[in-house]
Amino acid sequence: MSRGCVYLVGAGPGDPGLLTLRGREVLALADVVVYDALIPPRLLEYAPAAAERIYVGKRASHHTLGQDEINRLLVAKAQGGACVVRLKGGDPYVFGRGGEEALALAAAGIEFEVVPGVTAAVAAAAYAGIPLTHRDLASAVGLVTGHEADDKADSALDWEALARWKGTLVFYMGVANLPAISRNLIAHGRAGTTPAAVIHGGTTPRQKVVSGTLESLAALAAEAGLAPPAIILVGAVVALRERLNWFERRPLLGRRIVVTRSRAQASELSRRLEALGAETIEAPAIRIEPPADASDLRQAVADRASFDWVVFTSTNGVDAWFQTLAAAGLDARALAGCMVAAIGPATAERLAQFGLRADLEPEKFTGAAVAAALATKQDLAGVRVLLPRADIAPKELAEALASRGAAVREVVAYRTAADLSNVETVARMLAQNEIDWLTFTSSSTVKNLVEAIGAERVRASRARIASIGPTTSETLRRSGLEPDVEADPHTIPALVDAIVKRERAAV
Ligand code: SAH
Repeated sequence: MSRGCVYLVGAGPGDPGLLTLRGREVLALADVVVYDALIPPRLLEYAPAAAERIYVGKRASHHTLGQDEINRLLVAKAQGGACVVRLKGGDPYVFGRGGEEALALAAAGIEFEVVPGVTAAVAAAAYAGIPLTHRDLASAVGLVTGHEADDKADSALDWEALARWKGTLVFYMGVANLPAISRNLIAHGRAGTTPAAVIHGGTTPRQKVVSGTLESLAALAAEAGLAPPAIILVGAVVALRERLNWFERRPLLGRRIVVTRSRAQASELSRRLEALGAETIEAPAIRIEPPADASDLRQAVADRASFDWVVFTSTNGVDAWFQTLAAAGLDARALAGCMVAAIGPATAERLAQFGLRADLEPEKFTGAAVAAALATKQDLAGVRVLLPRADIAPKELAEALASRGAAVREVVAYRTAADLSNVETVARMLAQNEIDWLTFTSSSTVKNLVEAIGAERVRASRARIASIGPTTSETLRRSGLEPDVEADPHTIPALVDAIVKRERAAV
């Protein structure tokens, strides 16, 4: 059996974007991922689906592995030939007990690599608007454990030296000891007026910062209820936060927003919301699947020369069409004789990825508007139009085209199946009023989610509803829900804008 190895990887402080490229690279090689409590769950998706994922973090309700057991686990998995990624919060060698794990690996003769991570002090300070050093204010930084704050002779910390330290001090694992930390620093000569701050959940949508002075901080933090994970920063640089606090100004910071698109499509909306500070909960109400019977679509491909227009109404339709073309040994040239319309910029962009430029991109996306846009290109009487669509697509477009005399052929290109993973989480969070927004990007996500959760429970919560456009809004109303905002134009970026606008108006 091949010999295994272990990567000690720093996962960064919480924002999944702060994993290093090397960290992501080695995660993709993992047979086994051993991870802690503070790891952003999304990072686990970089490991192969088949990789074994072992949680060894501390969480009140979970049985936890002791450090010796973790060391033995890493050694045993590597000896079994596995490529092991040991994913640790922040940097593996900063208060992460990574040193102990590396020593155990070295003692067992196991090959290992250390992939540094962005440590909490560096990351949380940056996101709180505090430069750890500054030419005029701090020429040194001390990273200190706040775990033992007693001032006994055998203390691991030299409080006198810390109090005299000409620079910034950062205490990890110190929230519970904050009163003792402040007291010791002041008792050994640090001015009680020194600026100081506590940063909880730094770099995440849950980031909370309390700032004051060494004297006032403990009471302020207790009042704000700040709990771990948090770091304590002490030093003149803390005062710069007032001017440099960029992260907490994000318009959706801390808002919890449910994204109901299919898993494959959710990420664009989620990323945009997260970039504005939101925490997203992906509850894919639908899953895109091939049609139960694909013969209609194959026949449409075979009949391609008989159409004057092909109208694509979604990226899913484009994907299904090109997959079917490819299966028939064809490519984009198969549509050489047809005009092509794309509804929505995302659909046009997907077509472009397959080498096709749409001849028409209607500005409005309702059935009547699309038919009218086509009619500006040519008289539709007798014109043959192919519509590759979802199984549950509304009939409006086909009817509007037919009423102008077009010969319309609708084929089912893909099917939307209900995907109710995570629906229970959403229902529970709604009941606890923990959701700020529910987003709906199609009628089918409305139908499936509302059927599973019940309009009553949505109405009973404070969650607001964002709809991508009039068709989806209509379905919402028929389900008994009134959208609070509607995107205009009916695109993902506009949906995000509509939410931001409403949040700004509420301030
Ligand atoms: N190896 C980690 C530290 C592990 S010790 C690193 O390099 O960051 C755990 C402590 O890290 C917590 O008690 C807290 O003090 C700090 N910490 C971790 N994540 C944090 C975050 N997002 N915000 C603030 N402090 C954090």
